[in-house]
Amino acid sequence: MKVTIYGAGYVGLVTGVCFAEVGHDVVCMDVDNNKIAKLQQGQSPIYEPGLNELLEKNLAAGRLHFTTNVNEAANHGLFQFIAVGTPPDEDGSADLQYVLAVAKNIGQHMQEYKIIVTKSTVPVGTSDKVTQVLQQELSDKKLSFAVLSNPEFLKEGMAIKDFMQPDRVVVGGDNADAIEQMRLLYQPLLKKPEQFIAMDIRSSELTKYAANAMLATKISFINELSQIAEKLGADIENVRQGIATDRRIGPYFIRPGCGYGGSCFPKDVNALRKSAMQVDVEPKLLAAVETVNHDQKRVLFHKINDHFNQDLTGKTFALWGLAFKPNTDDMREAPSRVLLEQLWQAGAKVQAYDPVAAEEAQRIFGDRNDLQYCPSAVDALKNADALIIVTEWDEFKEHLQQITQHLRKPIIFDGRNMFDPAEVQALNIIYYSMGRSLTYAN
Ligand code: NAD
Repeated sequence: MKVTIYGAGYVGLVTGVCFAEVGHDVVCMDVDNNKIAKLQQGQSPIYEPGLNELLEKNLAAGRLHFTTNVNEAANHGLFQFIAVGTPPDEDGSADLQYVLAVAKNIGQHMQEYKIIVTKSTVPVGTSDKVTQVLQQELSDKKLSFAVLSNPEFLKEGMAIKDFMQPDRVVVGGDNADAIEQMRLLYQPLLKKPEQFIAMDIRSSELTKYAANAMLATKISFINELSQIAEKLGADIENVRQGIATDRRIGPYFIRPGCGYGGSCFPKDVNALRKSAMQVDVEPKLLAAVETVNHDQKRVLFHKINDHFNQDLTGKTFALWGLAFKPNTDDMREAPSRVLLEQLWQAGAKVQAYDPVAAEEAQRIFGDRNDLQYCPSAVDALKNADALIIVTEWDEFKEHLQQITQHLRKPIIFDGRNMFDPAEVQALNIIYYSMGRSLTYAN
């Protein structure tokens, strides 16, 4: 089937590559000339495990094309997927200018019936706005179209797997024929028919926000609990195990840490709050989820500052992890950004290492005297006053022994509870972690 995707970012690119992989004929359109030029050469502008291989393979097979030409894009696919960004507006609500610009482009250029699918995360009612824009653009042409909502649930770092083996595919709309076409499009990815969930368009739009708000709530819950555990002399890791085995709770998204980041949870929780307030519902729980997360991103700094008696001037810290989570180079809303600003403000220097996000950090922070990008985790340790862990990349677990060799004094501030306190204690390391009452200090 023929598919066009607008936006070659994390969602659009993964969607395009995966649809091509299952045999569809895909055109990805983006307004960013550099991105498209890179993609035409088979180079991914983002880091995502498995993406490069599928990109090269499907480009070579001729099932995947990249363009900046709107006319070509609008006249390629029966399906016209909108996967552009919906960043927060000044008041926190979703900025729909890119989504509506794409709808306008499609309306201006399409020459036959199209199914326009909103894949971007958009507030309830956006599909109505997309429909209005299309109606305006098509008022002189006698062309029909269908508008559907198809929110995306992939996780960065696992995006290919999530797309190729989805838990579910949600499609919203009232055009039964268009929904059936979508079922056929997704057929190669579905193991069971019930994974395809069709519903009305407003519920579909809200489902995406509901999913992200639920996950963010779980994270803020365990983070708040970790602070309680720490003060009460309990160990949050034991508590976590104790509740994770309850099937009603489950093991996912209840790991304590230094706050959630990324392009989705912060912006989507905020946008859902705004939507609620617009219809006179006071979202008390969502407000608390955000406040807890805001504070949690600052907990690690307080531990560091307290340890060094509120004087970090001239101190050098090794920082492991820059990305907002492992297996991605995305640093949008990453806890590392908050911590770096706090450390710099306090007069400290940072030697940072991240397996893939250094380039992105360089783009964000540029060259500064108080930030050095290191080629390896071990290099970052050399002559530092302490190690801070912000992102739980697996490879960090392998370097525990080197920590004692390279730091001036073996001190770890572990924002992700990567290590077993007993193991660390055996190496005479001073160890601060999240929600574990004992500071395993000597
Ligand atoms: P992104 O910023 O990585 O990519 C957006 C792309 O759209 C950019 O390459 C930009 O150049 C392009 N663009 C902007 N205007 C355009 C236009 N008029 N025509 C064509 N291209 C245009 O964004 P993303 O992370 O892929 O997110 C896209 C949407 O998907 C957002 O609504 C987001 O909330 C949602 N989403 C994201 C994720 C995620 O993990 N990143 C997961 C699920 C849903």
